[in-house]
Amino acid sequence: MDSLKIFAPATVANLSCGFDVMGCCLDTVGDEMIISKVAEPGIKITKIEGADLPMETHKNVAGVAVEALLQKLGKDVGIHIEIYKKIKAGSGIGSSAASSAGAVWAVNKLLGSPFSPTELISFAMEGEKLASGNAHADNVAPALLGGFTLVRSYSPLDVLKLNTPQDLFMTVIHPQIEVKTSDSRSVIKHTVPLTKAIHQWGNVGGLVTGLFTENYELIGRSLEDVIIEPLRSILIPEFQTVKEAALSNGALGAGISGSGPSIFSLCKGIDTAQKVASEIEKIYTKTGLDFDIHVSKINDQGIRILN
Ligand code: ADP
Repeated sequence: MDSLKIFAPATVANLSCGFDVMGCCLDTVGDEMIISKVAEPGIKITKIEGADLPMETHKNVAGVAVEALLQKLGKDVGIHIEIYKKIKAGSGIGSSAASSAGAVWAVNKLLGSPFSPTELISFAMEGEKLASGNAHADNVAPALLGGFTLVRSYSPLDVLKLNTPQDLFMTVIHPQIEVKTSDSRSVIKHTVPLTKAIHQWGNVGGLVTGLFTENYELIGRSLEDVIIEPLRSILIPEFQTVKEAALSNGALGAGISGSGPSIFSLCKGIDTAQKVASEIEKIYTKTGLDFDIHVSKINDQGIRILN
């Protein structure tokens, strides 16, 4: 086996209350990649289709993540990476994470799986560091482990896979506007009043419990963010209208996907997810803005091999 074609999924990070620590994996949105082991040592990005991204290994998150893996292994292997981008960069559904996680997952397989999926997270985080200046794991962890994940601690890194209730579906709208990372960062406050912190960690506990006990109602009432959403949502057109439409049409909860501008709605059952999608579509059509809408089951497997 010298070459693998894979599906590298999009992911939704934060999930309202879990800023920087929670995330989940999507199934119908993702990139394709072909990763090959070649005789001549060195990592090369040989093809990128679907996006204008750097071909230089050290400027592409996939190259940087694989570099970190090979360095740890102490091996000078030849790797060629082809990226077929379907997830738009800057959408807030883990475009960079799909490439970082996909590349290390496939290289690890081609080398006989020296690392566990959990061990691959730290290599993929090096790609995230290149993309955003911050080595966060809330997108790469669900891409690598599948389902819902929790970063219990960054130092030392301790990432847990949670349970995936089978009837959960995500509706994601991606308004095609540019929200500058610097803007979405600058609106965040770096200190949190204790009363809000108590509210927030209560919800994180509730969400984790809801996922494990498959209590959809508890999942819904825990999808609440009193810290980041009130500040960041002002950067997203029609955020409140979309959120209210999602909730009044049966979504368990709705919020900002990653740092936005995508908005996610978590739903029980595909029928509700599709109904929510069509209501949100009506709202966004009126704005005149371009947008994409995705409806997806939660992908419990994560990255997978394509034939
Ligand atoms: P998202 O929030 O959807 O993950 P980001 O804004 O975090 O998107 O990441 C996109 C940034 O990462 C862009 O600046 C892009 O040029 C850079 N980048 C480098 N390599 C890749 C890659 N292979 N895939 C996606 N983005 C990449």
